[in-house]
Amino acid sequence: MTATNGKRSVKTAIIGAGMAGILAAIKLRERGEEFVVFEKADRIGGTWRENRYPGLTCDVPSHAYTYSFEPYPDWKANFAGGPEIQSYFEMVTDKYGIRRNIRFGCEVTSVDWSEDSCLWTVTLASGETYVADAVVAASGVLHHPNIPQIEGLDSFEGPVFHTARWDDDAPIDGARVGLIGCGSTGIQIVTAINKRVERLVHFQRSPQWILPVEQFEFTDEQRAAFRADPKLIDAIRYSDEYIGAVLRFTKGITEVDGPEMTAIEDLCRENLEKSVRDPDLREKLRPDYRAACKRLIYSWCYYEEVQNPSVYVETGGIERVEPKGVRMKDGTFHELDTLVLATGFRADRFIRPAGVTGQGGRTLDDFWAVRPSAYYAVAIPGFPNFFMLNGPTGPVGNFSLIDIAERQWGYIDQLMDRLRNGEARYIAPKAEAHAEYEERRIAAAKTTIFGSGCSSWYLDATGVPSSWPWGYQDFADAMVAPKFEDYALSA
Ligand code: NAP
Repeated sequence: MTATNGKRSVKTAIIGAGMAGILAAIKLRERGEEFVVFEKADRIGGTWRENRYPGLTCDVPSHAYTYSFEPYPDWKANFAGGPEIQSYFEMVTDKYGIRRNIRFGCEVTSVDWSEDSCLWTVTLASGETYVADAVVAASGVLHHPNIPQIEGLDSFEGPVFHTARWDDDAPIDGARVGLIGCGSTGIQIVTAINKRVERLVHFQRSPQWILPVEQFEFTDEQRAAFRADPKLIDAIRYSDEYIGAVLRFTKGITEVDGPEMTAIEDLCRENLEKSVRDPDLREKLRPDYRAACKRLIYSWCYYEEVQNPSVYVETGGIERVEPKGVRMKDGTFHELDTLVLATGFRADRFIRPAGVTGQGGRTLDDFWAVRPSAYYAVAIPGFPNFFMLNGPTGPVGNFSLIDIAERQWGYIDQLMDRLRNGEARYIAPKAEAHAEYEERRIAAAKTTIFGSGCSSWYLDATGVPSSWPWGYQDFADAMVAPKFEDYALSA
């Protein structure tokens, strides 16, 4: 940090060039500050770079899944596909001129705080180091594939791969495909490939509630109108239909017996009853837990597509994988050409496996020994000038992570102002403020719909929902300004 007239220039290391890292880079570029983005891959995009499976679609409406400062008139449909979203981020990266600040192929292996210099040293896999005043961890939540521990998985003779590592050479067309997992990913893949395969065996350990949504394409006239008048885009993004639904949804999450959650449950149940004609299949697809306990699946076509005769929903337990297919516990054998693992992600990793060492030599692994946490999801006691976007305990659910990251950035930016204006060399939340926040959060989290009795990636290792447990408006309000009395500043 160099000082001029009491002002200090702050140098920042951003880790990850996905949606959140790009956002931080744009904001720091606008301030004219020095920063570098370290990206382990050779392209930007994060989730949207890694996931290329058939049917990949964002279930947040496209006009709401954009940066607020960069509306996009050309979305093809209400729910955009993965490649189009990736192109959007590529376009934004170029438009804001941040590509030259991104160092591709640079995996961060450790981040270490120096008590003497009050600086972070970022070490790359190559051994190279970079010294910064502040670190922004924008490394995403869902990017470490969860590979199931199934006996014999390695013995399968055909291609077997996780959905985030899609194998373009694997037989799908006219092939016998096994698909393990029924989260948002597995459901989207069923809808995309059932007409291409000879047979699709969908291994379902737990069925999912499906909320019906409307997919439609924007016409050329609509796109021209959006281009001519961006207020028309805002009218969608900030419509009651979208914002109102987010607010009602988060109210439902927190008031599990209230009218909002009852309405969601009724819609899901009615969708199942009306859409699935075969009573046996209907019962197979009926969850025994409450809607939205696992992440609710939004789909306009799953129930229709799963009724295609090419699809078989297998609800028996998997005994093992054999060279030619999957053996069930009851002895049934499914001969397969390709096996796809839609088994989700290890959502407790965040920046790890990179090692982070803060004040007093304390590691993040140690701080997170029980569960990952961060004060208001953005900062950690003992880890000064270390800020997280979409970090632990932030809101999760069926809404835009871009909006969440933007609001978090607004908050982080104000913390960094204290460094910029020379008031502090470093800033971190006080341990007691964090402990009080976590105590309140955990107590509230247990009462949310996520804690109502199902397994999901929303739960931490102790079974407590790891997310923001209050309403979305509460989150938005909390991000307006930090409570500086909860922060320790060092001159
Ligand atoms: P997920 O929701 O965690 O689902 C994983 C699935 O794999 C579950 O059905 C799980 O069954 C099953 N599974 C895991 N291990 C298994 C095993 N050993 N044997 C059998 N089944 C096993 O993962 P995901 O579908 O990849 O989705 C993760 C998150 O990504 C979503 O919740 C969402 O936040 C995001 N996403 C969003 C979109 C979008 O449109 N915006 C699309 C895709 C993904 P159990 O339920 O029984 O554990």
